[in-house]
Amino acid sequence: MSIINLAIVGVGKIVRDQHLPAVAANADYRLVAAASRNAQVEGVANFASIEEMLATVPSIDAVSLCMPPQYRHAAAVAALEAGKHVFLEKPPGATLSEVEDLAALAARKDVSLFASWHSRYAPAVEAARAFLAGTTITSMRVMWKEDVRQWHPGQDWIWQPGGLGVFDPGINALSIVTRILPRQVFATAATLEFPENRDAPIAASIRFTDAAGLDLEAEFDWRQVGPQSWDIIARTQAGEMVLSEGGARLSVDGRLVHGEPEQEYPSLYRRFAEIIRAGRSDVDLAPLRHVADAFMLGRRKVVEAFHD
Ligand code: NAP
Repeated sequence: MSIINLAIVGVGKIVRDQHLPAVAANADYRLVAAASRNAQVEGVANFASIEEMLATVPSIDAVSLCMPPQYRHAAAVAALEAGKHVFLEKPPGATLSEVEDLAALAARKDVSLFASWHSRYAPAVEAARAFLAGTTITSMRVMWKEDVRQWHPGQDWIWQPGGLGVFDPGINALSIVTRILPRQVFATAATLEFPENRDAPIAASIRFTDAAGLDLEAEFDWRQVGPQSWDIIARTQAGEMVLSEGGARLSVDGRLVHGEPEQEYPSLYRRFAEIIRAGRSDVDLAPLRHVADAFMLGRRKVVEAFHD
């Protein structure tokens, strides 16, 4: 396959902010169609449903599924059954089992499934992984604190069951943590704060450890006003490592050691083309598994109602 004929499904904020520019700048792809109930993409064939699109445009090789996670499995089944490669926005689904079902279907149909984790492609993540591989970590703090009104205005799906609430950004932190740590971690305790009028948490704190007794704590909060924080701080024998701005900048003992321009979505689309050409899938469920564990283990605290 020389050029990958791509279609995008669920045209909303992330498609306009990131997918369309990343695809337009990558010569491996030709955007041929879009499916969305209300929105349209200029210059391509538009459809109201993925089923209609797949039936009408047989030349599609691959689809990117960007609707909220609760509605992704049905669309992914339609695409995989039609023999298309599938890019899943994060989180890859509403449950672990439904994503495992997709991975099995992709293997049966001999097509590629990509569970994308954009934050893993933040510029300083690989440098942080290399730094931690060469030292001993004593403790780690993860702080993902942002203003939900600024970043998710009017998005009802994030407050509904399966929408993950504050774990929608928190899972980005977990996708980085599971990439940079040398060993697998597991949750030992969690507290989830649910607004009294919502079905998903507005804040969460989770403690993790690993086989060597690591002290790891993650704090996710959507009520942050003023400066926002997307930081991972590790105390290590080689100094204090700060991975800040969502994985964009790395400093050790206050000295900046890595800071390059952000390239997350261009990198995701390069990776998707690579696995399609290699005839492979890339489905790491570790970040979603930690979220599921936090829901299983978490003490539920009811807090004041949230209104947009
Ligand atoms: P969004 O704008 O609220 O939703 C994307 C689109 O999905 C909507 O515009 C809508 O288009 C379609 N949709 C909504 N409800 C649907 C339903 N019930 N069934 C089928 N389609 C539905 O959300 P987003 O911010 O783009 O986020 C989408 C995904 O990308 C999420 O998983 C999110 O975690 C991830 N993501 C978001 C960001 C960000 O900054 N926003 C960053 C990285 C990743 P139509 O009404 O036209 O169908």
